[in-house]
This record gives sequence, C-alpha cells and structure tokens, in this order.
Amino acid sequence: MKAWLKFSPDITNKSIISDTIKSYDIDFNILRANITPKGGKLLVEISGNQVTESIEYMESQGISVDPIKKVVKKEEEKCVDCGACISLCPVKAISISDDWTILVDDQLCIGCAFCTSSCPMKAIKVTE
Ligand code: SF4
Ligand code: SF4
Repeated sequence: MKAWLKFSPDITNKSIISDTIKSYDIDFNILRANITPKGGKLLVEISGNQVTESIEYMESQGISVDPIKKVVKKEEEKCVDCGACISLCPVKAISISDDWTILVDDQLCIGCAFCTSSCPMKAIKVTE
C-alpha cells in the first residue's frame, strides 16, 4: 500500500520508522520526503505480512497515516499519445515506450491528478 505519513514537530527526531520496520518486518520504500524541524510528510510504499499492525503502531506513536486510494486510468481508445501529460507527473509514473505509446504505471502513481488537467482528449482520469 501507498500512504502519506505526516509528522508533527515533536516526533520528527524520533526513530519511529526504523522501530516499525524492525518490529513488523515490513518493506518500507520512501517515494517522497519533506521533513523539517517544523514537521513533515513522507510518501511511502509499505508491504509485508504485518502492514496493518505496522500502521497501527505508527499511529500510536503520533504519525498520521493517510492511505492513497486513488488510481489513475487512461482510456486507450481516447488517448492520442500526444505526451502532454508526461511532464506534469511528479513521480514519473507516465512514460513513452519505444513505439511512442504513452504508458501509465499505476504502481508509481500517487493519485495527485496533475495529469488529468493537461489532457486535450480527457483520456486520463483519477478515481477512488
Ligand atoms: S495522477 Fe499524478 S501521479 Fe498519477 S499519473 Fe497522474 S500526474 Fe502521475
Ligand atoms: S495527455 Fe491525454 S491524449 Fe495525451 S498522452 Fe496523455 S492521456 Fe494521452
């Protein structure tokens, strides 16, 4: 699962994440990070057999966990492979293949919907 983790200033210097990884044997991949002394946010991908338990632990330590439920979908019959959506994606989830077809990687997508406004064909959408 992908989720935003939000930290308040009083817990940014604690070892909650490493404690969570060790205690629940999860794979923890940080996709984006913005941590300052005033608090911060991490976009993470978590997998393993104890994801639910690891989230409960992080929340008990004061981290706000906000799972990403949105998914991106490109309608192939509408898309004209113009590429206008590529540069707007902040996580490089949209790419162009060798045969000039536009590909969307829903494993990378964070559901921000920046790409949807750029599409002249209204071919790319984000849904719950
Ligand atoms: S919704 Fe956001 S992250 Fe997903 S493909 Fe579009 S721009 Fe990229
Ligand atoms: S902007 Fe729309 S039409 Fe152009 S490549 Fe992206 S999804 Fe396809």
